[in-house]
Amino acid sequence: MKSILEGRPALKKEVDKIAEVAGYLWQNGWAERNGGNITVNITDLVDDGIRAMKPISDVIKIGETLPHLKGCYFFCKGTQKRMRDLARWPMDNGSVIRILDDCASYVIIADNCVMPTSELPSHLLVHDSLVASGSPYRATLHTHPIELVAMSHNRAFLKKDVLTKLLWSMIPETKAFCPLGLGVVPYEVPGSNQLAQSTLNELSDYDVVLWEKHGVFAKGLDIMDAFDQVDVLSKSAKIYIDSKAMGFEPEGMSDQQMADLTRIFKLPK
Ligand SMILES: [Zn+2]
Repeated sequence: MKSILEGRPALKKEVDKIAEVAGYLWQNGWAERNGGNITVNITDLVDDGIRAMKPISDVIKIGETLPHLKGCYFFCKGTQKRMRDLARWPMDNGSVIRILDDCASYVIIADNCVMPTSELPSHLLVHDSLVASGSPYRATLHTHPIELVAMSHNRAFLKKDVLTKLLWSMIPETKAFCPLGLGVVPYEVPGSNQLAQSTLNELSDYDVVLWEKHGVFAKGLDIMDAFDQVDVLSKSAKIYIDSKAMGFEPEGMSDQQMADLTRIFKLPK
């Protein structure tokens, strides 16, 4: 069977980016077994040929009604699929879905009947709010960055913007390239509604949120942008941990140095 990517270079480029990022997640040790999820809104890349494609699955309930996603299309990582496999064979380990007119169910349209991640409702909840607000963001990412998860085990780091300030102060690029900082969501059961709602709330102020003792959830213009923000924060976390491992508390940039950075780079916070 012909792949949906054939003759569609823009869509193929987007899926190639997803595969590339999936490889980075695995190489970084952030994606053990089937850990992590990727969901990308590809509606802008859909043509009449795709709109005419017949479903290859039954109608599947989302479990939520998402009024702004009517007729939207997403590439989703498959449930129980591994990032390291998604990196090599994206269309065997993920699928393209179409949200139906009831805004509460979807069908899989390509390439194979790979069931999307069990975290799909929470990812779609975030996409619904992104579309509703006219956001240019198209990608959501959940992954398990080792150093950031380790830091989430220290209660002192979970207070509002304590980690943001600490991570920003390790290297100037972190404030420049993750200018909203790092939100924090207290521990909730994976896949729960409460986790999804708390994440959604926190994402109104941040592009990346840390799930206590679990991982991060990030949104971005595309999947590379979402990954880059997590990568930059993770780099700062490594610098902090390396300093501690060498036996000293890192000094961090001063408040004045951070304020100068905000002014010169015209940063939002
Ligand atoms: Zn997880």
